[in-house]
Amino acid sequence: MSDKPAYRGALPRPTPETKAFWDGAKAHRLMLPWCEDCGRPHFYPRSLCPHCLSSRLDWRQASGRGTVHTFVINHKAAKGFDQVPYVIAVIDLAEGPRMLSNVVVDGEPTPDNVRIDMPVTVFFDDVTDEISLPKFRPAGGAQ
Ligand SMILES: [Zn+2]
Repeated sequence: MSDKPAYRGALPRPTPETKAFWDGAKAHRLMLPWCEDCGRPHFYPRSLCPHCLSSRLDWRQASGRGTVHTFVINHKAAKGFDQVPYVIAVIDLAEGPRMLSNVVVDGEPTPDNVRIDMPVTVFFDDVTDEISLPKFRPAGGAQ
């Protein structure tokens, strides 16, 4: 964290179902819940597997790779989001689940080069001492 302005956006409030996800994010690891019965990952975190309703879940680190499923470019700042435009994207994770996040190009909220099916990789934005938000950038891009 250096010269960027203090984060004023909404913050997650970890719950028993999501604590492992946010603990992982703080350690810059993208964690997904995996079902020990059907062997499939899911997102968002919840207490039962959405595929088979098993409660036998385990957390595993995901690759952090994915592709842009779809996205929107937001030009009007929502409360706490000072830098516009920014990209809100649905990411198809390599492991299968979809995740809503942001795509950041070259560290700036300049979305001109974001495309559907574009390969992306996760990075973590340390917005407070307690919370790091997983965001995505073009795979192979500099940062
Ligand atoms: Zn399952």
